[in-house]
Amino acid sequence: MTHHTWYFDLVNHRLSEHHVAGFLPFPVLDGIVTTAESALRWAVDDFGRGTDHPRPLGVARPHSVRDVAAVLRFAHEHGILVVPRAEGHSTGGQAQAPGGLVLDMRGLTTVHHVTRHEIIVDAGARWSDVLEATLPAGAAPPVLTDYLDLSVGGTLSVGGISGATHHHGLQTDNITELDVVTPDGTHVTCSPTHQPELFDALRAGRGRRGVIVRAALRLVAAYTHARLHRLRYDDIGTFLTDHRALMTEGRFHHLEGQIKAIDGTWVPLIDGVSYFTPPTAPSEERLLGGLSDRRDALEITDFTYHGFQNRLAEDVSRLRAAGPWQQPHPWINLFLPDHAAEHIVSETLTELTAQDIGDTGHVLLYPILRARITTPQFRLPDTSTAFLFALLKTAPSGDTNALARMLAHNLRLKQRVVAVGGTVYVDDIAD
Ligand SMILES: Cc1cc2nc3c(=O)[nH]c(=O)nc-3n(C[C@H](O)[C@H](O)[C@H](O)COP(=O)(O)OP(=O)(O)OC[C@H]3O[C@@H](n4cnc5c(N)ncnc54)[C@H](O)[C@@H]3O)c2cc1C
Repeated sequence: MTHHTWYFDLVNHRLSEHHVAGFLPFPVLDGIVTTAESALRWAVDDFGRGTDHPRPLGVARPHSVRDVAAVLRFAHEHGILVVPRAEGHSTGGQAQAPGGLVLDMRGLTTVHHVTRHEIIVDAGARWSDVLEATLPAGAAPPVLTDYLDLSVGGTLSVGGISGATHHHGLQTDNITELDVVTPDGTHVTCSPTHQPELFDALRAGRGRRGVIVRAALRLVAAYTHARLHRLRYDDIGTFLTDHRALMTEGRFHHLEGQIKAIDGTWVPLIDGVSYFTPPTAPSEERLLGGLSDRRDALEITDFTYHGFQNRLAEDVSRLRAAGPWQQPHPWINLFLPDHAAEHIVSETLTELTAQDIGDTGHVLLYPILRARITTPQFRLPDTSTAFLFALLKTAPSGDTNALARMLAHNLRLKQRVVAVGGTVYVDDIAD
């Protein structure tokens, strides 16, 4: 690790390890500053993988809040762009700092405090670290992303949705306090009662109003087991009708939909998950009564609670080893106002084949109850219920035409959805 002094060449806007007259000393950090090729390559890559992003000047790896403040203060004084980044699972360049500095938050991962009701954790920690720290206390975050190896700061800066959102809102609706370094390098603590404007600007604030360094997060009681009920439907209309009933009645702890290509046909499926701790077990009659799924196709699978929350880990390891994880991911996540959901989903599926999503792609549909979402910056359709419609596409490696086709389709779909009052989540794509 090199703690030596770096210098900033204001004329040519670059970092230097050598002092020349006129160069300014860059703050010495507890962590490091680097311009190494491997660090710059890490910084320009993201999960989208379809675009060659312009390079940053360098990467700063803070090891303390003091480091974050020092970098931001220096950058503020000298007009240098600084963008925080952690796990790099953005798909549209959101964590890029072209010509500026990338702040690698992965060195700030300490869990400071855990009780049954709250965890205080550094923003560079992943949700898998959070869960590992809370489960021994019999507690868990009420909303966990499907994939746990995303950072706390990364998802709090966009919102954070899961199948529990119809009960508990977003991850950003479950924060009790944030420690942040504002763009001028000031360390501030804010909460719903202390500096509430800053608190609201940071939640789903895309890192623009400051770098989140630490978060106090609300916890709920954890169970030991989870039972997944996979309900199958023959048509989108019935699938959405049951989805609405399940979202408003809140029968399942976790509720999500997906539409899978099975033998060349799009098949809507609802995954309803009920948590339990034996000897108590979920009542099938209460959970499934009155639904119109194809009961002959019902699948029930039991998991441990942790196994369910971490359910994507095995698939991800496989995808990493086999290659698709490294392929381009032209993803699009849209919120559909409920009144337009059936039409948009049906029309979209009519024009798409499984190939248009890619071999390892997914189509997801999550129910959203607007009343549960209190994060002011989070943009939703102006309707009491909505659906997150996610087309998680994977393009073949090296096939620029296929990637361009997928991106062009995303843009057309976005325009169609926005025209009926829908909004875009995470992947802001330009018209
Ligand atoms: C496989 C996969 C699964 C996903 N599953 C879900 C899901 O279930 N639910 C969901 O809601 N989303 C999901 N997402 C989207 C994901 O939540 C966002 O892309 C998130 O921003 C990624 O977090 P990250 O740590 O990779 O952040 P990065 O890509 O490193 O950064 C993302 C954004 O956050 C900002 N940022 C990072 N750290 C900080 C910080 N400390 N302070 C302020 N700003 C910061 C960055 O500047 C950037 O704008 C998924 C994405 C992938 C690739």
